[in-house]
Amino acid sequence: MKVTLKISRSLLAKGLDDLERPHPFAHERLGFFSLRRSTRNNHTVLLATDYHEIADDLYIRDPHCGGRIGGEAIRQAMGRSIGGGVGQLWVHTHGRSGVPVASAVDCREGPRVAQSLANAHASSFHGWAVLSEDGMCGEVIAPGSSIAPIQDFSVVGFPMLLPDRSPPPRKRGFLDFLRPFEAVDYDRQSFLGEDSQAIFSKARIGVVGLGGGGSHVCQQLAHIGFLNLVLCDDDRTEKTNLNRLIGATMRDAIKRRHKTAIAARLIKALHSSAVLSDAPASWEEKREQLRECDIVFGCLDSFRARRDLEAFCRSHQIPLIDIGMMVLPDRNEISGQVALSLPGESCLHCLRVLTPENLAEEAQGYGAGKQPQVVWPNGILASAAVGYAVQLLTGWSGKAPHARLDYRGSTATLSPSNLLPLLKTIPCSHYPLDASGDPVFKRL
Ligand SMILES: [Zn+2]
Ligand SMILES: [Zn+2]
Repeated sequence: MKVTLKISRSLLAKGLDDLERPHPFAHERLGFFSLRRSTRNNHTVLLATDYHEIADDLYIRDPHCGGRIGGEAIRQAMGRSIGGGVGQLWVHTHGRSGVPVASAVDCREGPRVAQSLANAHASSFHGWAVLSEDGMCGEVIAPGSSIAPIQDFSVVGFPMLLPDRSPPPRKRGFLDFLRPFEAVDYDRQSFLGEDSQAIFSKARIGVVGLGGGGSHVCQQLAHIGFLNLVLCDDDRTEKTNLNRLIGATMRDAIKRRHKTAIAARLIKALHSSAVLSDAPASWEEKREQLRECDIVFGCLDSFRARRDLEAFCRSHQIPLIDIGMMVLPDRNEISGQVALSLPGESCLHCLRVLTPENLAEEAQGYGAGKQPQVVWPNGILASAAVGYAVQLLTGWSGKAPHARLDYRGSTATLSPSNLLPLLKTIPCSHYPLDASGDPVFKRL
């Protein structure tokens, strides 16, 4: 079974900040991450959900290693594991950057600590790791198994670090010899970074809702060179969609073709080798494929659907980029926003995209029926959203994206939300990291 360690950028920073603090006598600090699992077929993703520093007086002097902790620190970790039904990952760092290499002492001590924890609480994963901002080496004991390497490491946030996934399998055909001539030349976007095209071709992206917003997103993702997409929508094309559905034709509306088929056709016309999950289905029916995604675009109309999609993304620590737009004919205004919901940071509730009022009004049927929609605001919001994904994946500008951008149609402006300074001081209380992962059953 393959094991991946996934951690949010903010939690990793919290851990590394602590591990780099000087200790009164030890040369190296040690700490623990709590782990919850998110299990898939033959693949376990261990989600780091909390960091626990070790008090100075729980270290013991040992001239043979950089840092050693006494029995009390291990007992505390066992207590967290048994009390919370979580795994414990014993960690330290060899420096902020670069892929760490474990020392002989790490390889001897790490498995011992992991085994003690597994003896105390055998139904969780326990392990050890040496971490940096962009790399990890370590091992883990799965319930009922012996110790094995953690094969993959992924960091979610700005910038993202994708798991070292092999590129999607290509279908082999008798015209394969033509492929080198078919490849898109990305020279004009090489400023995004030396390995940016490799990142785009390896990233797995979900697009939920393929209407006015999602169809723009798919078109741009294809041009940028994303090759691995999960497309979610069970809707069919109608003539009323043709004023804004990118890629759709009159014939599609007459034939009532699925929106997934239109998006897939648009992508395949650029990349015949793209790997698409394009069966017409709602995101709820594609949960299995969607939770393997590195980033999800939410391009949904209803507030309830957006709330449910965010809850799903948070439970698997997947960044969600949500776009929404509303025409307000009474006020001669078009109002919209792009919101970035990163694990451990402000969510759509914090960002006031979802409010008790708009959820309640929708539940009571206010605003039901066909809402006015036009193509260009969707294009602006989708472009900004795609820019966010590129920014997260490549970090090309060195600046983290704003959590929310507000669009005003009357002035054609897109600007950082006024809420942002306030949110910096208020942590998200809606989706604590330790609520992510598979449900855990605790004894009462
Ligand atoms: Zn070490
Ligand atoms: Zn929140």
